[in-house]
Amino acid sequence: MQFSSYWLDTSEPFVSRAVGLPVDSCDVVVVGGGITGTTAALALAKKGASVVVCEAGTVGQAASGRNGGMCNNGFAQDYGTMSTLIGVERANELYRAFDAGVDTVERLVREESIDCDFARTGKLKLAAKPAHFDKLARSHELLAAHVDPDTRILTRAELRDEIGSDRYYGGLIFGKSAGMHVGRYVRGLARAAEARGVHILEHNPVLALNREPGGAYRIGTPRGEIRAKQVLLASGISQVGPFGWIRRRIVPVGAFLIVTEKLPVEVLDRLLPRRRMATDTKNFVNFFRTTPDNRLLFGGRAQFAVSSPSADGKSGQILRQQLASVFPELADTRIDYCWGGMVDMTKNRLPRAGQRDGIYYSMGYSGHGTQMSTLMGTRMADIMDGRTDLNPWKDFSWPAIPGHFGKPWFLPIVGAWYRYKDATQ
Ligand SMILES: Cc1cc2nc3c(=O)[nH]c(=O)nc-3n(C[C@H](O)[C@H](O)[C@H](O)COP(=O)(O)OP(=O)(O)OC[C@H]3O[C@@H](n4cnc5c(N)ncnc54)[C@H](O)[C@@H]3O)c2cc1C
Repeated sequence: MQFSSYWLDTSEPFVSRAVGLPVDSCDVVVVGGGITGTTAALALAKKGASVVVCEAGTVGQAASGRNGGMCNNGFAQDYGTMSTLIGVERANELYRAFDAGVDTVERLVREESIDCDFARTGKLKLAAKPAHFDKLARSHELLAAHVDPDTRILTRAELRDEIGSDRYYGGLIFGKSAGMHVGRYVRGLARAAEARGVHILEHNPVLALNREPGGAYRIGTPRGEIRAKQVLLASGISQVGPFGWIRRRIVPVGAFLIVTEKLPVEVLDRLLPRRRMATDTKNFVNFFRTTPDNRLLFGGRAQFAVSSPSADGKSGQILRQQLASVFPELADTRIDYCWGGMVDMTKNRLPRAGQRDGIYYSMGYSGHGTQMSTLMGTRMADIMDGRTDLNPWKDFSWPAIPGHFGKPWFLPIVGAWYRYKDATQ
């Protein structure tokens, strides 16, 4: 078994053409080479800007190359709860932003000829308990009436055509959702940006960021200093550099994945005949899907912990047991990959984007980010040009989380609370 991301292991590595510090000034420095950073760089370059991407490690090494590759529409949260909280009209606007995210992924994949198996498989949200099915059914009524006619509710009996498991009590299909090979996607985006003149500097963390009296920025990196008219932080949970303000607002939460050996097509035809993306309704969520080369990817929160070699291994064992309880016929299947990654959670699980002291940022996608990071990366190019109306998250305030200074010491407490909720609700 390899303790590395299946997506990164099965896609052609991105090799940056940039040598040394290719320029000492540019229009925009983008901090971070994940999906947000690469899509933003591509969009900025298309508008004629000179762009340098500084990436602390390698392109896609963080969440963007370690996720489930699910490109789902809809909220991570229940639509009914969201519309009660912020009103139907506002909830619909945000819901449509996720639809637009999936559309933007599809468009970029086509325009940039990125071979990443993007397919509109649809997503299946599975009721883990009978009461969860009632909530899904209510949610579906509202969704169908207000914002998404491409949703469909399935009773437990109807679910048999969708999944070879007796574990669930019904489900809700989101027809617009898609899946993709996210390693090929993020590395393809980097190649597309580079082809348009973007300099991508890997192993080059931003360690200092200062504003000059004239308004330009001086960005300090190990390869030297770069001057830029604008800066975009696309740095996810960033643990390096002078970004304490962000660290007090984002909680890094581990999520973990395993991938089986290649399985016979007949087995996958039994388990997930329509090859949909699947998630369940628990707080300690499980999600699963097939891969382009006929494996089963199975992920989840497993434990509320920070991803590390020991946490990944322990989580892999938990996931293996959960996989066997959903699909008993895979109990003895070999596991080829096991890894973890850090999700950039905000307190209300909604993204944040905008500017502070003139520095732009987009992040906090809270586990629902393959599509939203694509949408926001692309839109930031216009938002930085004054089109703030294009920012769906502009009205959300973003106070620091009390007692949080970057290291999420409170995760075990939050985990215990969610475990209690999963047991009782
Ligand atoms: C395990 C896991 C499973 C997930 N599954 C899904 C899923 O199935 N579907 C979905 O929609 N979303 C999913 N997500 C969320 C999704 O992956 C993220 O929302 C998205 O990839 C965020 O992209 P990003 O570019 O903003 O951040 P990242 O991919 O985290 O990239 C940020 C980059 O910034 C760099 N950086 C940080 N600080 C600095 C610095 N000082 N200088 C230079 N570079 C810096 C980092 O090295 C990193 O490469 C999952 C996330 C995880 C962790």
